[in-house]
Amino acid sequence: MVKELLKKIIPPETVFQFRKIKGRLLHRGNKVYCPVCDYSSARFLKVTGRGRVICPVCRSMERHRLLYLYWKHSTELFNQPVKRLLHVAPEPGLFNLFRKDPCIDYYNVDLGSLWARVKAEITDLPFEDTSFDVIICNHVLEHVTDDRKALSEFFRVLVPGGWATLQVPIKRETTFEDPNVTTPEERLEVFGQDDHVRIYGKDYLDRLRDAGFKVESISATEFLNDKQISEMVLGGVEDIIID
Ligand SMILES: [Zn+2]
Repeated sequence: MVKELLKKIIPPETVFQFRKIKGRLLHRGNKVYCPVCDYSSARFLKVTGRGRVICPVCRSMERHRLLYLYWKHSTELFNQPVKRLLHVAPEPGLFNLFRKDPCIDYYNVDLGSLWARVKAEITDLPFEDTSFDVIICNHVLEHVTDDRKALSEFFRVLVPGGWATLQVPIKRETTFEDPNVTTPEERLEVFGQDDHVRIYGKDYLDRLRDAGFKVESISATEFLNDKQISEMVLGGVEDIIID
């Protein structure tokens, strides 16, 4: 309880500094590397069923490291001119990175996080049309009942020519949802997690197109070599969907 409260009060960069010192004592080495927080270590932290995939400092997972590398090497996000960025349900590592970057005018939105600049539902964003150059929303839509409304809101607040990263877990050919499944117990059994409202399929890309986005997907192997994939522990990471 106290630990949870402290996590909410202490700024992420202070937490990361502390973890780097601790990491140098416990995991000193350079076998793995996290580009999100620029930290080398002997190993990442273990996740049940998935192996050692979590950065011990910023807690980034495979998808965060891959997305960071993609944004850095294949977009102008971290270059001038300044971009207005909307980050939904901010992950601490990315939050820390974005808000310090001089090329990013950073906004984030969430319902529960203390670090959220705006508290709002993504199905009803309190922003005017064409307010943002970039929107980033990772693994949130599978929790949202009216995801089509959220996607249309994202498209509405994005400038023409802007872009978005809207990742979801994709586990089947076609999306499966059932509005009659409403309790956490049922959702755990049917969707695999007690707060998920569907299982996305590859047709998620059509849902993005229906909202107005132009979509393509790119895999890690298309822009990283084997050494980078191994060093940043990106084997099996999901493809990036470019909107
Ligand atoms: Zn990290």
